[in-house]
Amino acid sequence: MKITFHGAAGTTTGSKHLIEVNGQRILLDCGLYQGRRKDTFEQNRTFPFDPAKVDVVVLSHAHIDHCGNLPHLCKKGFTGNIYATPATRDLCSIMLPDAAHIHEGDIAWLNRHKQRDGLPLLEPSYTMVDAEKCLRQFVTVAYHRPMLIAEGVRMTFIDAGHVLGSAQVILDINDRETGRKSRLLFSGDIGRPYNDLLFDPEPSDKVDYVIMESTYGGRKHELATNATQHLCAIIRRILQQKGKLIIPAFAVERTQQLLFTLDQLRHEKCFPPIPTFVDSPLAVKATEIFRLHIDDLKQEVREAIFMREDPFGFEGLQLVRTVDESKGLNFIKGAAIIISASGMAESGRILHHLRNNVGNEHNIILFVGYCAENTLGWRLRHGHKHVNILGDEFQVNADIEILDSFSGHADHEELLGWFDKVQGPKSHVFLVHGEPERSAALQLALRERHKEGAIEVAKLGQVVEL
Ligand SMILES: [Zn+2]
Ligand SMILES: [Zn+2]
Repeated sequence: MKITFHGAAGTTTGSKHLIEVNGQRILLDCGLYQGRRKDTFEQNRTFPFDPAKVDVVVLSHAHIDHCGNLPHLCKKGFTGNIYATPATRDLCSIMLPDAAHIHEGDIAWLNRHKQRDGLPLLEPSYTMVDAEKCLRQFVTVAYHRPMLIAEGVRMTFIDAGHVLGSAQVILDINDRETGRKSRLLFSGDIGRPYNDLLFDPEPSDKVDYVIMESTYGGRKHELATNATQHLCAIIRRILQQKGKLIIPAFAVERTQQLLFTLDQLRHEKCFPPIPTFVDSPLAVKATEIFRLHIDDLKQEVREAIFMREDPFGFEGLQLVRTVDESKGLNFIKGAAIIISASGMAESGRILHHLRNNVGNEHNIILFVGYCAENTLGWRLRHGHKHVNILGDEFQVNADIEILDSFSGHADHEELLGWFDKVQGPKSHVFLVHGEPERSAALQLALRERHKEGAIEVAKLGQVVEL
């Protein structure tokens, strides 16, 4: 068996790992690179392998850094099955056309500049039509249902507790060439235990090889209960300052988690009613998909949905759909909360809200999730005082707050806790999906507690024979 790390190696985005065994090619994830526009544009445009020669894709979850380049893969000749859980497939049915829409918009913007400078125009890597076509290649497999996906390769999804439908991927491989049988576990992105909505990441056993994420290696998240109180204090402050609380949030999971927490805080009367807007058509659709997949949600949430109480809705909440409604938010007076995508503030309506609000000292920008290096969200989180938003320079006068506890990713201790529950020899562990410093911190800790196994940080393009 051969593994090649084609993405999310030395960085957190662009997840793509190719497994070659018994003359077949299995691609784990096919994500988009995110970050500095110029660099990512080139990285996403080409594949370091021939898409037509890939036999199957196994998709861990519906985040764009894991699924976002699938329509491009299909357009370039991949005709096989894409295995995913039912909720992941449904989320992809809104995420992929949305990603295509954003990409087509970016290309149109670039082409306007190129045209002005007399340079050749660019074609989008894929369009909404390609995204819709690629959805027809999905085959859904529920958790704990083993499935033969290639000769000598049986795949099982188990819950990763990261977003709705997120999976860890177990591959039971019978390598005909070496005669060796082995079990490979791909962690996907690992969620935090004790999540309000989702089940904890599941343990697995008899594992020989691990491909493990390391986003928050060496980092500690705030306790969830403290974070809820912290959020409450921020909302009280915004009411006092009569300002806007702008929350860039991933449409999938972060937004629903926030709505659930706000709903609870309102029930407990932690703050008086405050106009709250979810300005992301994608988030509104994703919330509907949450309601459809109640089997993937915790009992309390499931019961609330059954009882027709809305765990994602409360007094004062308004869902914004049209562009005109979104523009109207610029003119509202007094305190308000605006939740909008994308979470890394790279694209989408959040950019307009940041343009309009970042310069006002009465406002607060609150980050509740991970931001990849060099994204606008990352710059704001790192205290940059001047930022460029959609071509114009802005001074940052609004307060910046961070609540990583709402993160969908396990922190350092939680990653170690997950690793300890993975049973088996774990003779080779490859760390992926982390900035170099974070992966190195996790590597150090894992070497301490698992001396029997080789713990490596995967490098981009690295090939391993097992
Ligand atoms: Zn993810
Ligand atoms: Zn990820």
